[in-house]
Amino acid sequence: MIRKPNTPLSQLVELFGPELITTDEIALEAINTDQRKIFKGKALALALPKNTPDIIKILKFCYAQKIAVVPQGGNTGYCGAATPDETGTQLVLSLRRMNKVRSIDPVNNSIVVEAGCILADVQRAAEEVDRFFPLSLGAEGSCQIGGNLSTNAGGVNVLRYGMTRDLVLGLEVVLADGRVLNKLTALRKDNTGYDLRHLFIGAEGTLGVISAACLKLFSAPKSIATAFVAIPDVNAAIKLLTKLRSSSGDLISSLELIPHIGLELVLKHIENTRAPLVIPSPWYVLCEITSAQVTEPLVQRLEEILTAALKNGLISDAAIAQNERERQAFWRIRKHIPEAQRHEGHSIKHDISVPINYLPSFVKQASAWVAQNVPEALLVCYGHVGDGNLHFNINERRENNQRKGTNQNTLANNLTKDYLVAYEANIQRAIHDFVSSYNGSFSAEHGIGKLKVDELEHYTETAELDMMRSIKKIFDPKGIMNPGKVLRGHN
Ligand SMILES: Cc1cc2nc3c(=O)[nH]c(=O)nc-3n(C[C@H](O)[C@H](O)[C@H](O)COP(=O)(O)OP(=O)(O)OC[C@H]3O[C@@H](n4cnc5c(N)ncnc54)[C@H](O)[C@@H]3O)c2cc1C
Repeated sequence: MIRKPNTPLSQLVELFGPELITTDEIALEAINTDQRKIFKGKALALALPKNTPDIIKILKFCYAQKIAVVPQGGNTGYCGAATPDETGTQLVLSLRRMNKVRSIDPVNNSIVVEAGCILADVQRAAEEVDRFFPLSLGAEGSCQIGGNLSTNAGGVNVLRYGMTRDLVLGLEVVLADGRVLNKLTALRKDNTGYDLRHLFIGAEGTLGVISAACLKLFSAPKSIATAFVAIPDVNAAIKLLTKLRSSSGDLISSLELIPHIGLELVLKHIENTRAPLVIPSPWYVLCEITSAQVTEPLVQRLEEILTAALKNGLISDAAIAQNERERQAFWRIRKHIPEAQRHEGHSIKHDISVPINYLPSFVKQASAWVAQNVPEALLVCYGHVGDGNLHFNINERRENNQRKGTNQNTLANNLTKDYLVAYEANIQRAIHDFVSSYNGSFSAEHGIGKLKVDELEHYTETAELDMMRSIKKIFDPKGIMNPGKVLRGHN
């Protein structure tokens, strides 16, 4: 009789069956690559738990066998944090089947969801009970709450409601060895010792698997006013923010910066889009004020604020959405900039934040560097200007990407994807050095993943890195949780 080899994979399949563990090639193909297609790994297999006890038994086995586990949500992250390495030894654990809303409490303004719930489904569940879950980002139709928590996602409403971290009441987490940290509390006040939940938020799956969360809800906005505003420069965006804050009674929920090139790319690549304003402007902002009061005359108030801004030359033009269709059309432009950039070609993404006062000088300095060193690239600098967070992206330019360079000393004469990739580290370091000189962050909302491990080591004080490594050791002594992400060399 021929004995079957007793490999970790054969044991996994034997123990948990095809219901929980799949080796189907098509399924693995999809989970082996990140959404930007810059990392390609090779998973041992794909685990598809249906509930928390399934996660517990899978992690207990992996811990005993020292099998690395890579949690994966919607796989929309930008840093390769949910992609397995190339060794074929890491088990990808997808939360996609754990997508139930466990309970919702409109009195306590809270909702308990499984980690695999799609963000848009959580928003809808809140709407059904006349409440609002404010986390909102371009990937909301496919990213999952577990992924949002693990990256501490930001999005377009941070100005008013904060990052994902600020929207969490409690968590249920399965630790590396299969123990459960059950803090799925809906309490708003709980000062019983160290607040461990915050360690898992933003940990990118390196400390445990988030299996469920209790999230904060808010009163549903009943009056909304949204405008697409033409401005001459980034400084005007910041002045407008101050005006909107003081004149609206702090009702501002979003202020997003859009460069003219961002609008152009969207009009070029995304269907059903059109420019909201007739005369082009170097920059625009999309701003929104909201109130839970039905009778609040917000459109009128926004009109007054913008008319005053027009008179004193702060803005050059503005369109206020007259109905929900127009509002959605404005947001469609903003939310599709990443997709439009992808259609245009490869891009080097910088997800930076600096104290908001310094944004104009940062943009000026870093843009001048790009103009000098990567002159043929498209600089697409857009994003959450109200939070001091911009996506300072350097994009391949379609019509140029076949050009061949003659001068080897400049970066841009041969601006193919390969060329940008080859110089990516140098370009990033130059931009991040500017960020650092303003005491900013080189990763405002996308995290570290695989992509920015070097940057974390470069820009973080030794004492802080040591503390991070010590925390990792406490929660994951065998180094099985998403090794090589955030921190190097834990396996
Ligand atoms: C078009 C577009 C727009 C975007 N806009 C924004 C934006 O405005 N703001 C922003 O912050 N991000 C944005 N992103 C990035 C991305 O959507 C977010 O980082 C999102 O939070 C990732 O969620 P996910 O479910 O796809 O996670 P994944 O990409 O699957 O995973 C991300 C990380 O979380 C870990 N993880 C996932 N689930 C769990 C779990 N249950 N337990 C433990 N670890 C887990 C993974 O291991 C990985 O480390 C955008 C992406 C796209 C494609």
